[in-house]
Amino acid sequence: MRRPFVIGNWKMNGTIESSRELAVAADKEARSLSEIDIGICPPFVRIAQAAQVVAGGPLQLGAQDCAKQSDGAFTGEVSAKMLEAHGCRLTLVGHSERRTLFGETDADVAQKAQRALEAGLMPMICVGESLDERNAGRTEERVGSQLDAVLDRLQAEQTADLSRITVAYEPVWAIGTGLSATPEQAGEVHAFLRRRIESRDPKAALRIRILYGGSVGQDNARALFSESEIDGALVGGASLDAEKFAKICQAASRSIHRSESDRSG
Ligand code: PEP
Repeated sequence: MRRPFVIGNWKMNGTIESSRELAVAADKEARSLSEIDIGICPPFVRIAQAAQVVAGGPLQLGAQDCAKQSDGAFTGEVSAKMLEAHGCRLTLVGHSERRTLFGETDADVAQKAQRALEAGLMPMICVGESLDERNAGRTEERVGSQLDAVLDRLQAEQTADLSRITVAYEPVWAIGTGLSATPEQAGEVHAFLRRRIESRDPKAALRIRILYGGSVGQDNARALFSESEIDGALVGGASLDAEKFAKICQAASRSIHRSESDRSG
């Protein structure tokens, strides 16, 4: 069974003090829910501060993005190696806000995933369709090509074994809108993505976690986590409220106990 993973994406929010409080609360949750993985992705300038809070504990520190280059004259960029040196264990790549607001292409995302792996970070590859694409029946085509761009590059470069990646399915129409995909809608896309990985690497397909993201909150988390294809959640807005984030983590933890009791009959 894949270990559930709940990770908060703080985006460009928070003061120094509120960020410290959120990190402390997430750290406490991670220490008490030892059967799941919990992570936070603060803005770059808060990473060193969060690293002090999480030091030595199970809370996983991540970044929201990394540069597609290794190092050099790239003003304003932050490399995967720098993030790793500051205590990050993972980085998001290809979040839909990066793709739509900052023009990131599939090729950029693939390069970033490669840089992350080279630096020893786990890339969390975000994929998702727009509402127009969903309505036109093009969801699988869109998320399939976004995922393929990354897998093609990683396999061509032989950077790493594919099981070191995580995928986040985040329909663009569900991010920050309060309009979540249903567990069935998400489950169908997750199953499609897993088959896509399986066609290249069956062993990795069994191990790679596929998280759902898009308006996950305390009210829909339980239903989403009851879908067997959903291995956790990438949480935006609700991760800025310590109590709401804790409730989502607790729902993920309870989903394990439910599936264990289902199995035992
Ligand atoms: C996100 O930004 O990754 C996200 C899922 O946001 P929200 O939970 O606010 O929809």
